[in-house]
Amino acid sequence: MRIARFVVDSDPMYGVVEGEPGSETVTVIHGDPFFNGVERTSVKHKLEDVRLLAPIIPRSKVIGVGRNYAEHAAELGNEVPAQPLLFLKPNTAVVGPGDPVVLPEFSEQVSFEAELCVVIGRICKDVPEERVDDVIFGYTCGNDLTARDVQKTDLQWARAKGFDTSAPLGPWIETELDPEDVDVKGWLNGELRQDGNTKDMIRSVRELVSIVSQAFTLLPGDVIMTGTPAGVGLVSEGDRYEIEIEGIGRLSNPVVRR
Ligand code: MG
Repeated sequence: MRIARFVVDSDPMYGVVEGEPGSETVTVIHGDPFFNGVERTSVKHKLEDVRLLAPIIPRSKVIGVGRNYAEHAAELGNEVPAQPLLFLKPNTAVVGPGDPVVLPEFSEQVSFEAELCVVIGRICKDVPEERVDDVIFGYTCGNDLTARDVQKTDLQWARAKGFDTSAPLGPWIETELDPEDVDVKGWLNGELRQDGNTKDMIRSVRELVSIVSQAFTLLPGDVIMTGTPAGVGLVSEGDRYEIEIEGIGRLSNPVVRR
């Protein structure tokens, strides 16, 4: 099931997206599916008539995982980390489908990173790998935009990874994906730049959720970005980066400088 968050004219709502590409509909559901489950109303819109928002604004955190694909670690001259390399992005970094990525003044080298993202469905801590599916609400596409120059010069990655608009998410949350063998692709201005598959992860999605939950209590709506495959590169003003993850959909964002 695909759960979207959207506006028609005023307040954000959640809905279920159904139908064939190009003729999808969104059926409004009651309240917040993270707490109320999915109960449909009788109200339905054409997908083209709504404006999709980030499918979740995490209540507490976005957790990033660094260097989780060997080829990507190598392309930046890094070793695969012996211990999982975790970092945080604030929830203020999250934007939705079509929202502009605003290049920060303090960086000249902002990079795209297409990533499969896990959306947590229930409060949890120290989740064993075999129980991870019980705590996952679903999956969405994400772009872990990174100020590469600042990442190299700052001792901590807070600015480099956490600036406003550095975490586009969307277009919706797919609740039924098996994450272990899905293609993760990214296009810069229509040109394929990233073409990976989650089976090439160093640590699998289920391993990662378990590992992350040993460090942090996870809350409903928290998001884990699971690392990017090889092919990363820089974005400039006027560019557009599109991410497609098999079984989920496509997330597209323009890049601006203000
Ligand atoms: Mg990343």
